[in-house]
Amino acid sequence: MLFRICLPLESAPRVSGEEFEYLVKVLRLQAGDLFESVQERHIGIYQIENIEKKSLTAKLQKEYTENNEPAQKLQLVLPLLKNDKMAYVLQKATEIGVYKFWLYEAENSPVRFAEPKLERWQKIIVSAMCQSRRNHLPEIEKIELSELAGKFPNIYYAHPAAEKKWPDFADNTALVIGPESGFAPAELNYLAVNALAFSLGGRILRAETAAVAMTARILF
Ligand code: SAH
Repeated sequence: MLFRICLPLESAPRVSGEEFEYLVKVLRLQAGDLFESVQERHIGIYQIENIEKKSLTAKLQKEYTENNEPAQKLQLVLPLLKNDKMAYVLQKATEIGVYKFWLYEAENSPVRFAEPKLERWQKIIVSAMCQSRRNHLPEIEKIELSELAGKFPNIYYAHPAAEKKWPDFADNTALVIGPESGFAPAELNYLAVNALAFSLGGRILRAETAAVAMTARILF
């Protein structure tokens, strides 16, 4: 299996920046060595021609297509969590196969939105996608809970106080996870009307554990 970077490459490309550092400083590839680059389902196998100080040139050897995506598109709707927890969910759920992340500021979220964080999170998703050999790059987008009903035909929310059951998740379901201290009353009112509740029972998981565990169970 060849090492892979996530850059759309033309036929005689130059690689610089972080991808260059990764191939040359971390993996220690040399002229003549091969690597892959992925763009959705199209994979190119490249041979390194020339390594310079800050960039390298490579030549396309072969192209092929592959599909490692799960059968279902899962839309994961997450409350803003503290930074390290957010990073954890985004990395793990990308590896497992979430199609797209939607982030909302829950009333009980301990943090608020800041643009620079969104950029950092995007990087985490790109490297998790590449490392896990997925073909689709999950997007990350802000949303208000109140917009959910207009966007998704099937919405479920995980709520410990609901009836214990495991729903039959249809393709493109939006799965809403609550913040660490739970949904606020106004949020619960909205969800009760526009979405279906389910519970996993009496063991209360942390929000990040719930997100990752449920994603895995739905997609495997
Ligand atoms: N004290 C809070 C617990 C929140 S746990 C409350 O009672 O609501 C954080 C989030 O993880 C929850 O909002 C829910 O979305 C999810 N979660 C954790 N454990 C769960 C369980 N057993 N069943 C369903 N959802 C759960």
